[in-house]
Amino acid sequence: MSTLEIKDLHVSVILADETTKPILKGVNLTIKSGEIHAIMGPNGSGKSTLASTIAGHPKYQVDSGEILLDGEDVTEMSVDERARAGLFLAMQYPVEIPGVTMSNFLRSAKTAIDGEAPALRTWTKDVKNAMGELKIDPDFVTRNVNEGFSGGEKKRHEILQLELLRPKFGILDETDSGLDIDALQVVSEGVNRAHEANDMGVMLITHYTRILRYIKPDFVHVFVDGKVADQGGPELADRLEEEGYVNYLKGAAA
Ligand code: ADP
Ligand code: MG
Ligand code: MG
Repeated sequence: MSTLEIKDLHVSVILADETTKPILKGVNLTIKSGEIHAIMGPNGSGKSTLASTIAGHPKYQVDSGEILLDGEDVTEMSVDERARAGLFLAMQYPVEIPGVTMSNFLRSAKTAIDGEAPALRTWTKDVKNAMGELKIDPDFVTRNVNEGFSGGEKKRHEILQLELLRPKFGILDETDSGLDIDALQVVSEGVNRAHEANDMGVMLITHYTRILRYIKPDFVHVFVDGKVADQGGPELADRLEEEGYVNYLKGAAA
């Protein structure tokens, strides 16, 4: 059983001119193994900032607060150290890696995270099975990382990593954006498999409730202006579907 605990987190984005702008204004959130938390909220409320900060993106600066993985603060860890500690952010890898095939990339990532190379025979089988379930073309492994991938292929590739790398916590930022219904279903099933097989905790960031028909959250948090403005169970997502975020925005403006 693992716990990812975000305590009174304040984060600024570092702008091009190296000045900073505060985005997260005291986020509190705890995710345990086996739990699925949906983070919802209007555009610009800081959802991606939270995801990128957990992953260690250099553009974001932690001003105060903590991100604890099983009691250990990860905010001083490098991106690689965070991955080895069991955090996975879909989108954390470079968009394209020229000259590196998918096959090599996946095996290197697995080796880096586990601290040893996976046994070849089981690994090859695991990759093949996971690709089959995600309906990924077998030629995919010989292609360079993300080179010429369509939006849907990139998402499937992210979920493939999630299934193979077996993180303690998967942070999925707008995994549903740009997917047609069939792809959404395939990708959601992959998330559910990773969740069930490894007791993975999930932070599912989404602007729309559509993906929550396929991935059932245990908890829903509403993000407004860099903070959790409301939280509840799955019924909160249904209410948001009907009412939108307008009630929260009125509150934020007042
Ligand atoms: P969300 O994912 O909820 O849509 P973001 O975390 O992407 O929100 O953005 C939160 C706020 O931070 C927005 O107001 C956005 O304009 C601002 N922001 C994020 N990154 C940058 C950046 N690189 N430069 C300027 N503003 C940024
Ligand atoms: Mg569950
Ligand atoms: Mg975002």
